[in-house]
Amino acid sequence: MVSVANEVLSGLANLTPDAFVKKMLEVGITRGYFTFVDGQFHSSHSDLASLADFVHNSPDYDNHEGLFFQVDEATKCLFLAGVHRSNRGAGHGGTRFKQYPTIESMFADVMRLSKGMTDKNACAGLWYGGGKAIIYAPNDPRSYEGVAREEIFANYGRFIASLNGLYITAEDMNTSPEDMRVIHAHNRFCTCIPHEFGGSSNPSAATARGVFRGLLAAVHFVDGKNDANDTNLKGKHIIVQGAGNVGGRLIHQLIECGAKVTVFDLRQDTKEALKAKYPAEQLTIHEDGDSLYEIKADVFSPNAIGAILNDTTIPKLKVRIVAGGANNQLADPVKHAKDLHNRGILYAPDFIINRMGIVNCSNEPYGYLAAEVQDKADEVYPDTYSILHDAAEKNHSPQFEALDLAVRLAKVEHPILGHRGKRIINHLMNSGWGK
Ligand code: NAD
Repeated sequence: MVSVANEVLSGLANLTPDAFVKKMLEVGITRGYFTFVDGQFHSSHSDLASLADFVHNSPDYDNHEGLFFQVDEATKCLFLAGVHRSNRGAGHGGTRFKQYPTIESMFADVMRLSKGMTDKNACAGLWYGGGKAIIYAPNDPRSYEGVAREEIFANYGRFIASLNGLYITAEDMNTSPEDMRVIHAHNRFCTCIPHEFGGSSNPSAATARGVFRGLLAAVHFVDGKNDANDTNLKGKHIIVQGAGNVGGRLIHQLIECGAKVTVFDLRQDTKEALKAKYPAEQLTIHEDGDSLYEIKADVFSPNAIGAILNDTTIPKLKVRIVAGGANNQLADPVKHAKDLHNRGILYAPDFIINRMGIVNCSNEPYGYLAAEVQDKADEVYPDTYSILHDAAEKNHSPQFEALDLAVRLAKVEHPILGHRGKRIINHLMNSGWGK
């Protein structure tokens, strides 16, 4: 247990990120870390004790190997990178450009997301650990354009460079391949850069392909068949929540395969475009987000935001399957997995079926091969099927089956580099990173 040593900097976790940035600049701390190596928790500065206390005692902490932050004086942004486990390799996961109400909510989110990447990368068989990062800016992320945006991503790129390969970034919420190009111009630890620079660019098409394969496996499992080549979904009714980069492409594949699809999206222009594109016999636009959960159908497919499977929504569901691309769909990954299972609703774990986003960029440093990515997307069907099968044998939620698998696989060390992340963290601490 870490104790609060400095009264002057008490309550850091409760500050807004803007107030935290101001406070750090006042006391002259521009970089800081919390690490966990060989069973020991370390904090870069005793002045950060109140934040260390929050991190160490957070339910999302799970002995995170490293949390590193930088206050960017020029842009007043706060950069935060979390690496949960690096046994399999560098922590690999996207950078979110997002605002948060408090430091507590920002740190909790990065911990939850980077643990999620440990699970996803391990189950996908990638030689990467789990990591995720956040750029907090004082204004709406979408308001930063041109030189102002470039300055943020350049400075962020140098922050990632300073972590010496512990964390490799990718595109995520409110970031683009162009932003990745700017980051990549300032370090070598960045993926999802545009095709013309040898990158894999936007991962959404690959993600949607993987989600489709996972959803198909779940439909087949419930129907008692196992045939990856049979993509006929005639007679199936699928509810899709969110028709953006992933959901929009998923809807297209579902309709092509004969399914009837009911869609809700918050955006009017998105709904109008869908209505114009697809025949009314196959596509229904639903106008109310709350009653979407009550529609009787075969599958509910969340492709918008996280935590939508919760105490309020689960009792409303009238489907046999939940399978979609959104991250962290279960508000409580244990309780709500159980609730779905107890209601006889088959849950295809999000981190198994939406993994193609990270798989798409995982081999980018070795040359992007679209055919290889297609093969990997096809593997989502048998992998999902096998988790559903094993979970049914044990009569528990597929979420638990997938988490068990993730815990086992995440412990396996990289066959050539071993647990190199630990050595990098020791190097960063010994060389005075953040001091
Ligand atoms: P996106 O921003 O392109 O699309 C999200 C869509 O959901 C938008 O059209 C938005 O209007 C809609 N939306 C937002 N809130 C909603 C709500 N409450 N109800 C209904 N619709 C709502 O995002 P995306 O890239 O398609 O990602 C969707 C989800 O998939 C996210 O949870 C993301 O983290 C996850 N994911 C995406 C990828 C990827 O490659 N893009 C990879 C893995 C996971």
